[in-house]
Amino acid sequence: MLRSHFSIFVVAVSICLGACSSSQFADQAEAEEVSLEVAAPQPAPEPPPPPWVEEQVSVQRGSTIARILQDQGLEYSQALAVVDAASGIHDLSRIKIGEQLTFRMGREDRRFYGLLYPLDRYGERRLLVERAEDGSFLATELQLATERVPVLLAARVEGSLWATREKLGLSAANIVGLASVFEWEIDFNTGVREGDSFSMVIESVRDAATGKQIRYGEVLAAEYVNSGTAYRGFRFVDSEERLGYYNEEGLSTKKMFLKSPLKFSRISSGFSKRRYHPVLKRWRAHNGIDYAASRGTPVRAIGGGRVKFTGTKGGYGKHVRVRHNGKYASSYSHLSRIAVRRGQVLSQGQIVGYVGATGLATGPHLHFEFYVHGAYANFRTQKFPRTEPIASSERAAFDAELARLKPLLDGDAAAQLPVPASGVPERTAVLDAKLSAPILR
Ligand SMILES: [Zn+2]
Repeated sequence: MLRSHFSIFVVAVSICLGACSSSQFADQAEAEEVSLEVAAPQPAPEPPPPPWVEEQVSVQRGSTIARILQDQGLEYSQALAVVDAASGIHDLSRIKIGEQLTFRMGREDRRFYGLLYPLDRYGERRLLVERAEDGSFLATELQLATERVPVLLAARVEGSLWATREKLGLSAANIVGLASVFEWEIDFNTGVREGDSFSMVIESVRDAATGKQIRYGEVLAAEYVNSGTAYRGFRFVDSEERLGYYNEEGLSTKKMFLKSPLKFSRISSGFSKRRYHPVLKRWRAHNGIDYAASRGTPVRAIGGGRVKFTGTKGGYGKHVRVRHNGKYASSYSHLSRIAVRRGQVLSQGQIVGYVGATGLATGPHLHFEFYVHGAYANFRTQKFPRTEPIASSERAAFDAELARLKPLLDGDAAAQLPVPASGVPERTAVLDAKLSAPILR
């Protein structure tokens, strides 16, 4: 098990080009300790306050929606009518412990005006059940108006990428998003080195009304400095809605093969001519790579191709072999379950099965083999060409996107932040933190 220690410096800078509104600088990212005072536009007259106030109720153990609604002053029959009205959008009888309900209760009379319930993790979609004039209940789905503001995040890594997640307030999906930009160039299982660093321009998805950050969105551009070599990727969606990441020369970060058949794991035994076999208790060549991972971890085809074999094969246990082209093939062994059929055509990254311990294996791991012209080859020392440069017809659009994103990644756009009355803006917040967190296995 790898222990990961991190010292992180974080730069969270609101970036906007062209028209900037003051709310775009109301960044509440935990890393940011900078508040910029911006000359506020003339405020619009305040609308009159609603006749209700919002109150939060969290679902307790043993609680039911009927009970909660009755606690808010509704009759039992009215509680059922609320659930019934909502049923086309969400089944309120299936609320779970810890979920938050928001009630709109009369300021003076404590009358029930409405109920809000989040329909997704961040409450961007919400159910609203309101009491109509005639006493009936009406349900609607509310979509929060959001804005996406690019922000720059940077961190120095001393261990694995994974543990920076919490410190930066990133979700698992955000870290997977960052890793996926470079997964053809950097093996995040084994390639991460002390002193690596990364920066990324990521969307800060905010409540358009309050400017409050709800979550992070897409990774727009990223740089990862691995063992002193900088890799860069810029997000580009072409005219056919195909998403890809490209370097400044317009070459796709995508390559013929993924760096690893597993997203996050570690190599427990490499390719070698001679190693002591833990089950056979004798020395023999290890013609593949073992990745330690827990049972059920998805195993990905490293490249597109056709499935040549599926089934149980001696010491390999449950085994899948994929032929990528006339030269290259790969295989995946000790699987707990096979997810493909013989003859099936696979795309790169498609799940072929799940990690297990079938065949000659002491515990769950993936035994991965790679073949060049049918002979065992060390996958980690092979050199493969980049594929898919940007199409010439897409070049102008890509160049425009690059011109937008590159200054953001370089931090140049920070120079365009308005200067507060108090003086020169402080653009970076430096925070030193030692983290010790388990990595995803
Ligand atoms: Zn092995």
